[in-house]
Amino acid sequence: MIIVVKPGANDTQVHEIIDVLEKNELKAHVSEGAERLIIGVIGDKSRLTPGSLEVLSGVEKIVPIMESYKLASRQFRPEGTSFNVKDVTIGGKELVMMAGPCAVESEEQVEAVASKMVACGVKVLRGGAYKPRTSPYAFQGLEKEGLKILRRVADRYGLLVVSEITSENDIEYASNYLDIIQIGARNAQNFRLLSAVGKSGIPCMLKRGIAETIDEWLGSAEYIMSEGNYHIMMCERGIRTFETATRSTLDISAVPVLKGKTHLPIIVDPSHAAGKAQYVEPLALAAIAAGADGLIIEVHPDPKHALSDAAQQLTPEAYAELAQRVKEMAVIVKRSYPQPVA
Ligand code: PEP
Ligand code: MN
Repeated sequence: MIIVVKPGANDTQVHEIIDVLEKNELKAHVSEGAERLIIGVIGDKSRLTPGSLEVLSGVEKIVPIMESYKLASRQFRPEGTSFNVKDVTIGGKELVMMAGPCAVESEEQVEAVASKMVACGVKVLRGGAYKPRTSPYAFQGLEKEGLKILRRVADRYGLLVVSEITSENDIEYASNYLDIIQIGARNAQNFRLLSAVGKSGIPCMLKRGIAETIDEWLGSAEYIMSEGNYHIMMCERGIRTFETATRSTLDISAVPVLKGKTHLPIIVDPSHAAGKAQYVEPLALAAIAAGADGLIIEVHPDPKHALSDAAQQLTPEAYAELAQRVKEMAVIVKRSYPQPVA
């Protein structure tokens, strides 16, 4: 359930509510919106004496939440969530553009991409250091060295770094190098990892599992939020269907459905959905038209020779064209497109 606090309630009234919850071993998650303070209540509500909250002067109303996710539900923050990672706002009017290679292969490779991406409004550099590959014999990533390369290159261009972490054991080390942890599709229901990312407090981009329903995916977000980390973006990256023409099927419907179900910002990854470079731009445009808050796109200086996901990576030139079209689409949906960093 959530408790909607009376407008203008003072600190004492709010603490009174939290005290009752804590005395009953319930956890209070406070969300301070522009107009309303909302308290998400997690735990066994049957402990509460009936009426014990209703009598408190700071309580306006108590709303039960039927979904298994509470903090991730739209009711917890009806006005939507936007947050800053350094100077980049996620979930605001301005779209967030993230781009970079599938995997970090060398400093020269990342440099060749980043140097061109900055002029296209990209604010977040992506690159896999720990690669979750289907085959144990495929390139597994440069791991620690990959993270260091990303950080060095990103710092040269004033970019943020997003990179996937596949084990809770790597979070502490990685926190020295990245700004946003990516949880990949294959780990979307790795609940220990989700909880550890929640405890870390590091902003997180949570990809949708390959066969995860939207409600299950929101359950994954709830794992992170229940540990007190509210800085989450949901990332639709395609789901597995019977269709084989594309690598996955981009679930465009997930964008408006999520907008109704959750307050969290939504990013779309057309690269992993498409699996083929020629479909990335149309899917990117569809995502923005549907209301996505940003895009993450794979770009490689020489896609044909990429060590992973060669077929879907764009050249920097193709990315520049895509960026131009996204800019035009942004105007139509009344969003703004980011200015290149100086
Ligand atoms: C990636 O972004 O590098 C990746 C492996 O994506 P996904 O987890 O969506 O397959
Ligand atoms: Mn990839």
